[in-house]
Amino acid sequence: MFTKQKSYAGDGSYPISYYGVVAVEGAHVGWGASGRNGGQVVNGINAGLSTIQRRCGEDAARFIGGLVQEGGKIIRRLVSQYQIECDLKPGNIYTAYTPAHMKELEAKQVLWRKYGMDDHQLLDRGALRKLVNSEAYCGGMLDTTGAHMHPLNLALGEARAFESIGGTIYEQSPVTRVDHEAARPAVYTERGEVSARIVVLCGNAYLGDAVPKLVSRVMPVSTQMITTAPLGEELGNSLIPSDMCVEDVRYILDYFRLSADKRMIFGGGTVYGGTDPADVIAKLRPNLEKLFPQLKGVTIDYAWSGNFALSFTRVPQMGRIGTNTYFAHGYSGHGVTGSHLFGRTLAEAIDGDTTRYDVFEKLPWYPFPGGRMFRAQYSTIGSWWYMLRDAVGW
Ligand SMILES: Cc1cc2nc3c(=O)[nH]c(=O)nc-3n(C[C@H](O)[C@H](O)[C@H](O)COP(=O)(O)OP(=O)(O)OC[C@H]3O[C@@H](n4cnc5c(N)ncnc54)[C@H](O)[C@@H]3O)c2cc1C
Repeated sequence: MFTKQKSYAGDGSYPISYYGVVAVEGAHVGWGASGRNGGQVVNGINAGLSTIQRRCGEDAARFIGGLVQEGGKIIRRLVSQYQIECDLKPGNIYTAYTPAHMKELEAKQVLWRKYGMDDHQLLDRGALRKLVNSEAYCGGMLDTTGAHMHPLNLALGEARAFESIGGTIYEQSPVTRVDHEAARPAVYTERGEVSARIVVLCGNAYLGDAVPKLVSRVMPVSTQMITTAPLGEELGNSLIPSDMCVEDVRYILDYFRLSADKRMIFGGGTVYGGTDPADVIAKLRPNLEKLFPQLKGVTIDYAWSGNFALSFTRVPQMGRIGTNTYFAHGYSGHGVTGSHLFGRTLAEAIDGDTTRYDVFEKLPWYPFPGGRMFRAQYSTIGSWWYMLRDAVGW
C-alpha cells in the first residue's frame, strides 16, 4: 500500500521517490515461493525470447530481451547495499540430455546475442563434466550472469531492508477482500483494514480466491524440493565442481545446487493445480540418484513442496484492476528474477513513469482452457506431449 510522502534523488543510478509503504502478509515473510524456492537466479522468463518473438512480435521480444538480466542486477545490488547474507554465488548452467536439447541451447545463445546479451558459453560433454559431474548430460550452456542464493535469507534480508527505510509489515494478516474499484482502494483482513492511494496485489500463486478478477489469469502449480544431509567438502565439490546452480532444459525439469554447507538441494516435479504429492522424497530421490549415482541412499534431511503461478503463455503479467490497484504475478517458475524486475517496473509506474509498465500491461494473456474446473487436467495432458518429446529427444 503506497502513500507518497516526499521525493529525493537516491544514489544517482536510481533516482527514487519516498513513499509510506505497508505490506500485508497472510502468513509470514518468506512463507510463499520466495522463501522456499530453488534459489536459482536465472535470467530470462519462462516463455523464452523465441516464443515471445513468435507470439507477441519483434518489438515485444526486443523490449523483454533488453531487460531480462535486470532482475539479477537488482538482487545483486540489494544484497550488496543492505549486506544481506544469503550465500549469493555466480553462475547458472543449463544442461542438455540430447542433441535436440543442445540445438535449443545453441538457438538460445544466438537469440540472446541478438538482443545484446553475450554472457553464454556453450559446453560440450567434456567441458560440462568439469562443471557438473554427471554422466547423464551431453552438454550444456553456462550463463555467467546467472547466480544462486539462499532464498529465505534473501527474502528476510529484503524485508529487513524494507523496514530499515520506513516500510511496515503486518504478518499473519490474510486479506479476505479487496475493494479495488474505490478511488482510494482498501484491503480487508479479519483483524483490520488498510486503505491507501495505491494497492499492489502480489499474492501470486497463494492469492486463492481473495480477488475474483485475477483467478482465471494464473494457475497454481506445485513443485517439490529435497535437501540432503551435509555431504562434506570433498563429495559436494566433486558433484558440482563449479558450485553453480544447474537446471536442465526439459519441460518438466530438474534443478539443483549446493548449499553453503554442501548439501545437495534438488528440485523437480510439477503438479498442475498446486496440490502436494503424498511423498516428496519418494518422488524426487530417483531423479537425484539417476543424475548422481554417488548419492545412492543418501540421507535426505528436508523435503517440501511449494506453489508458483503459471500463466498460459508462460509470460508474467502486470496490470491494473480499478484505477489505483495494480497486480503482478505469473512468473511461471522463473520468479526470482522476474518478481524483482516487476517490483521495480511497478514502482516506476506508481512514481509516474509508465513507459515500461505500459508495454507489459499490453502483452496478451489468455485464460487456461478448461476453466477453473478442468484447467489442471488439460494442462497435465498437454504436458504429456512435451514430456514425450523430451523422452524421445525430438
Ligand atoms: C519449490 C519452488 C521452487 C522454485 N524455484 C525457483 C528457482 O529456483 N528460480 C526461480 O526463478 N523461481 C523459482 N520458483 C518460483 C519463484 O519462487 C516465484 O515465482 C517467486 O518467488 C514469486 O514471488 P512472489 O513474491 O510473486 O510470490 P510469493 O513469494 O509466493 O509470495 C506471495 C506472498 O503473498 C502472500 N499472500 C497470498 N495471498 C494473500 C492474501 N490473501 N493475504 C495476504 N497475503 C497473501 C503469501 O502468504 C506469500 O507470502 C520456485 C517456486 C517454488 C514453489
